[in-house]
Amino acid sequence: MRIIIDMDEVMADNFPSFHRAAEERFGRVVRPEEYRGKKLYDLPGLAEVRNVLYEKGHFRHLPVIENAVEVVRELYEHYEVYIVTTATEFRYSFLDKYEWLEEHFPFIHHSRIVFCGDKSIVHGDFMIDDKAKNLDSFEGVGLLFTSSPNLNERRYHRVNNWLEVRDYFRQERKGRIAQEG
Ligand SMILES: [Mg+2]
Repeated sequence: MRIIIDMDEVMADNFPSFHRAAEERFGRVVRPEEYRGKKLYDLPGLAEVRNVLYEKGHFRHLPVIENAVEVVRELYEHYEVYIVTTATEFRYSFLDKYEWLEEHFPFIHHSRIVFCGDKSIVHGDFMIDDKAKNLDSFEGVGLLFTSSPNLNERRYHRVNNWLEVRDYFRQERKGRIAQEG
């Protein structure tokens, strides 16, 4: 069974960097309630905050989302895990993301890392992603990882954090073992 795992807003948290850019460059202290159901850089006057994504080093120093390391490790032991991330729009993200994974997820083999531009080419049994758009074209089961911009999305099974992901796949394994008798 193959699981496709997204990086940004699933394994790595971009929001602290967006908040910092909003404050330092535009003098705006943004509260998370302000961008519920959308992106921070969709707020008036903050469109340019998105430009941090193009900067060298941005993806290298993002905090790891809580419990991601332990749960990805558990999934890695039981499934064919692939990390699939949209990277080609951001030229400096390649090395930054690679080194970030090497530092925080050293158990992930390089053959299981996919840098792409369009996730509709990816195949698998499960996909964990914060963007419904990526789940739309996926033929397997889509799990929507909760993030502020997707709070109004209702079409997919929602996982609010990594512990819920862990429980979902523990159940999935139990169900399969029971079926196999
Ligand atoms: Mg993402």
